[in-house]
Amino acid sequence: GKSFVGFASLPHQIHRKNVKKGFDFTLMVVGESGLGKSTLINSLFLTGLYSDRILPNTSEMMKRTVGITRKTVDIEEKGVRLKLTIVDTPGFGDALDCTDSSYPIVDYLHQQMEQYRMDEVGMPRTQIKDSRVHCCLYFISPYGHGLKPLDVAFMKELQAKVNIVPVIGKADCLTKAELLRKKERIRKEIEFHKIKIFQFSDCDSDDDIEWTRQDHEMKNSIPFAVVGSNMQLRVDGRTVRVRAYPWGVVEVENPDHSDLVHLRTMLVRTHMQDLREKTHDNLYEQFRIRRMNMRSP
Ligand code: GDP
Ligand code: MG
Repeated sequence: GKSFVGFASLPHQIHRKNVKKGFDFTLMVVGESGLGKSTLINSLFLTGLYSDRILPNTSEMMKRTVGITRKTVDIEEKGVRLKLTIVDTPGFGDALDCTDSSYPIVDYLHQQMEQYRMDEVGMPRTQIKDSRVHCCLYFISPYGHGLKPLDVAFMKELQAKVNIVPVIGKADCLTKAELLRKKERIRKEIEFHKIKIFQFSDCDSDDDIEWTRQDHEMKNSIPFAVVGSNMQLRVDGRTVRVRAYPWGVVEVENPDHSDLVHLRTMLVRTHMQDLREKTHDNLYEQFRIRRMNMRSP
């Protein structure tokens, strides 16, 4: 079916011997309340193929997210196993105390790294349950004029602990021209405020043209403009995920309507291994060194 996610191509990203063991990947969503975080997760992964197993849980997910919740699903494609964990977070304004909304989330990321650090010392590597977060989708409002001061502060808190991938939520409420302008502005603001977001690694010269082209297109899509939906419709004989409005239908997986497919491709087909490596080799390593320095006098 067309609903499959596509991580079976992961073996291209990773050494063969790891394929049998399977992969784990943990993705977090963060941002203001009501920007479509929970809905997007549903649209990104828990689609078609996995629906029978997942659907009972998604209705639960669609409720207002009031605490940090983790959900893990084991999915398999073409013999490749992926253990996908989604960390959903309450949006600003959903938590009881929204004065310092970044704290519980930053603390959560810290705790996962700290747990790994302790396990690394205390147990065989194969037994470690790695719960570190590999990627954080940071939701930016489509209604504002760019980043809000809170977004800047929040991302600055997050950047040392997780790979940030910025997205514009509910992008269906912007026209194409508005979207391009907003993306450009947000990219400039990210640069101006020196916010460290996930960087697509530069292509090696031996990478093929298709890959290079895709990588370029990916970079220019940042922040990904996403549209989520829990509704499926038959359109021209295909089942597609849509948002239906009185004036027409937005197909969330149509690249002309949203960057959802780019985002999914990046997460599972092309950059999952890169996100995992950056988490371990850069972010975690820096965390470990900071912790070591804190101990020694
Ligand atoms: P969260 O608080 O960020 O998790 O947001 P939810 O996923 O719970 O969505 C909040 C509301 O926005 C719900 O009524 C959704 O149906 C709606 N919604 C979700 N995604 C989109 C989107 O892409 N576009 C539009 N227009 N509405 C959306
Ligand atoms: Mg939510």
